[in-house]
Amino acid sequence: MNSKSQLAIALSKLKAFVKPNVKLEQYPTDSEIAAGALWNLALLGDIEGKAIADLGCGTGILGIGALMMGAKKVWFVDVDAKVLEVLKENLDDLGIEEDYEIFKGKVSDFNEKVDVVVQNPPFGTKQEHADKVFLEKAFSIADVVCSFHKTVTRVFVEAISADHGKEITHRWDFSFPLKQTQKFHKSKIRRVEVTCFRMV
Ligand code: SAH
Repeated sequence: MNSKSQLAIALSKLKAFVKPNVKLEQYPTDSEIAAGALWNLALLGDIEGKAIADLGCGTGILGIGALMMGAKKVWFVDVDAKVLEVLKENLDDLGIEEDYEIFKGKVSDFNEKVDVVVQNPPFGTKQEHADKVFLEKAFSIADVVCSFHKTVTRVFVEAISADHGKEITHRWDFSFPLKQTQKFHKSKIRRVEVTCFRMV
């Protein structure tokens, strides 16, 4: 990938959730935002040649982007077999055959050590503390953790990272378009302020 916009275009072609599961908070990361975060990480040396886990990978936009940017290996982790089928289609469409493994199960049951975690976990609005489980797992398996959270939950992210001896080195703010994927959404596109935290 020669530029961030080239990466964003490639990621925009991936298949997304077919019927998002509300309880599992299945919202895809927007391709521009995924490219923005991955590009920043790549500049910091967190992608090329690294073993990476994409926790709550959904259809795989973050992990696939990492592979496109030269990751050595990506672990895709999600509890939902249906989204993992779409992930597999995305990987097959791109002709990616190696350098990845798929773990179907809860993040709490995933125990591979990696260099970096990139994750856009559930924000914990449907299942309380869902984001906490993801962060604790990420801290236990990786030195560098890059995780998306609602900006309003900043104090919680700061506290939990401090508790685990992690320093927040970077914060990247994004305005997340939440497309009308759920029946109960009234307006077509809502936006929610989200921060991507890089913790070391
Ligand atoms: N990372 C993807 C998807 C974000 S949505 C993207 O950026 O587009 C959150 C994902 O977490 C969903 O795919 C959901 O199935 C998964 N998930 C929710 N709780 C989980 C758990 N406990 N263990 C593993 N995956 C989980």
